[in-house]
Amino acid sequence: MTDAQQFASDNYAGICPEAWAAMEAANRGSAPAYGDDEWTTQASDAFRALFETPCEVFFAFNGTAANSLALASLCQSYHSVICASSAHVETDECGAPEFFSNGSKLLIVPTPDGKLTPDAVRALAVSRTDIHFPKPRVVTITQPTETGQVYTVEEVRALSAMCRELGLKLHMDGARFAHACAALGCAPADITWKAGVDVLCFGGTKNGMAVGEAVLFFDPALAQDFDYRCKQAGQLASKMRFLSAPWVGLLGSGAWLANARHANDCAARLAAAVAGLPEIELMFPVEANGVFLRAPEPVLEALRAKGWRFYTFIGGGARFMFAWDADPVRVDALADDIRAACAG
Ligand SMILES: *Cc1c(COP(=O)(O)O)cnc(C)c1O
Repeated sequence: MTDAQQFASDNYAGICPEAWAAMEAANRGSAPAYGDDEWTTQASDAFRALFETPCEVFFAFNGTAANSLALASLCQSYHSVICASSAHVETDECGAPEFFSNGSKLLIVPTPDGKLTPDAVRALAVSRTDIHFPKPRVVTITQPTETGQVYTVEEVRALSAMCRELGLKLHMDGARFAHACAALGCAPADITWKAGVDVLCFGGTKNGMAVGEAVLFFDPALAQDFDYRCKQAGQLASKMRFLSAPWVGLLGSGAWLANARHANDCAARLAAAVAGLPEIELMFPVEANGVFLRAPEPVLEALRAKGWRFYTFIGGGARFMFAWDADPVRVDALADDIRAACAG
C-alpha cells in the first residue's frame, strides 16, 4: 500500500523497471563476491563506453561516501577544498569530507545559485598563500547545483582552466548528473573529462536505483588505493553485484537519460503551470528536476492542509523535486492546488 505521490524529494521514488530487472537477473544463482563478478565488470565497462574513455570506476552505497572519499583521495590533511556555500558537501554531509580526509578544510564561496565562477575560485585560492592557511587543492562543483542550476560546457571548461592555472583538481558532485546531461543535451564526456573534470561522483539513487553511486576517476593515477579507502570506510559491498547490476540496466537501456529527461520535463511542467500566478515566485530558474517556489505562508499552509509535502530549508521557499516516476497527473494536481491556494 503506497500513499499518493509526493514531490518533496526525488528520493521518495522507488526503483525503475530497468534497474529492477537487472537486479532480478543478478539474483539468479550465485556470483563471486567483493566485485569480482560479471555484473561489476559489465557495469564498469558500460561507464567506460558511455564516457568514451578508460576511466577507473568504483561503486559506493551513497553520495556522502562517494563525495567524501573522492575528495579525501585528492587531498592531504593540510589541504583545502573550495566549494559553494550551498554545496551538499558543506551543508548535508555532517562533516564527512573533513572526517575522511583527516581534516582537509572546506573553503566556502557564498553564491546565490550554488554555482562557482573562475573569478570566485581564484579570489579564494590566492587570498592566502602563507603557511598558516590550509593549502587549496581541490575545487568541487555540483552539477546540477542543489537548487537546480546547470553548468554549461563552457562554464565547466572555464573553471577547469582556472583550476589548472592554480594547480587545483576539479571534482564534480553529480548526484543528479544524468539530469544535467538531459538538460544540456550533451554527451557525458563533454561536461566531464573533456572539460577538465578529474573525478566524477555519478548518482544512481536519484536516477532510479535503490541505492548506489559510481565514482569515476578520469586520471587513473588519482585512483590509487581508492579501493582500500572504500573498504576502510565500510563502502565495499560484499554482494557487489547488487550495487553494480542496476547500472548495467540503467546504462544499457538508456534509462539513465530517459529517467532524467522525464524528471526535468515534470519540473518544467509545474513551473509553466504556476508561472504568472501573482503570489508565486520562482526562486531559481528551472533547469533540471527541481522547482523552488516562494509563496506567502498562508499559501504554503493551504498546500500542507491539502496533504502536499515539501521542504522549505532553502530560503523558506517550497521545494518540489521530480523523479523518474513522477506522474504528470499528480504534477497537474499540485499545480491546481497551488492555483487554488493563491485564489483562496
Ligand atoms: C542527494 C545528494 C547527494 C547524496 O546524498 P546521500 O544521501 O549521501 O546519498 C550528494 N550531493 C547532492 C547535491 C545531493 O543532492
